[in-house]
Amino acid sequence: LYRFLNDLSSYFNHPIIFDSDGRSPEQLFWDQHALANNRIPFCSRILKAQRLQNYYQDGDLIIFGIGIDERHRAGRLKNVYTGVSERKKKKVELKFPLLKENISSNQIDKFLLDTGIEEPLLYKLGFTHNNCSGGCVRAGKKQWKLLYEKLPKVYLDRERVEEEFRISFNKDVHFFKDETLKSFRYRIKSGSLSKYYNTNTESEEIKECIGICNLEN
Ligand code: SF4
Repeated sequence: LYRFLNDLSSYFNHPIIFDSDGRSPEQLFWDQHALANNRIPFCSRILKAQRLQNYYQDGDLIIFGIGIDERHRAGRLKNVYTGVSERKKKKVELKFPLLKENISSNQIDKFLLDTGIEEPLLYKLGFTHNNCSGGCVRAGKKQWKLLYEKLPKVYLDRERVEEEFRISFNKDVHFFKDETLKSFRYRIKSGSLSKYYNTNTESEEIKECIGICNLEN
């Protein structure tokens, strides 16, 4: 992700400022004494949404790269930022250039090809989102299976976090609703998963994390 951003920054000859409180999702989980998950994605809220909402200045323009296949997100963003703007007494203008210009993903691919900018690794590997190295707590099991197959070290590292948490707090907690990453990994390895998990991730809804979920600050 950062390689891609740096490539874009060089291509447009425009600096990118990174805003962060310095914590990884894992550090945040320890601070909050909780594991985030799809029902409570507080990592997205605290590390992304709240930071952006605090960061922008009165009168700023925020541009979101929402694609044409995710139009519904633009409406939600507008509603949220109307509320944020009133509460924080900071006006903000939002723009969605991909929607406005009706840019398709094929056109984006062509742009990357023409400019020689390599697409992010996760997309190359078949992931539908380029977040948190593919190990997003909001992702469904198909994505986690893909992660284990393509980037096992990342999977095992997320599993480590889960296991350390379970031991430390002596609680039956996990990212999934119904099982741990460890148990899911055993099921992958034993070949006991149904064919459902063999299809690509496209049919599985993976919740977005661009700092707009649970966005109230
Ligand atoms: S991508 Fe997933 S794990 Fe990473 S901050 Fe967003 S919700 Fe949390």
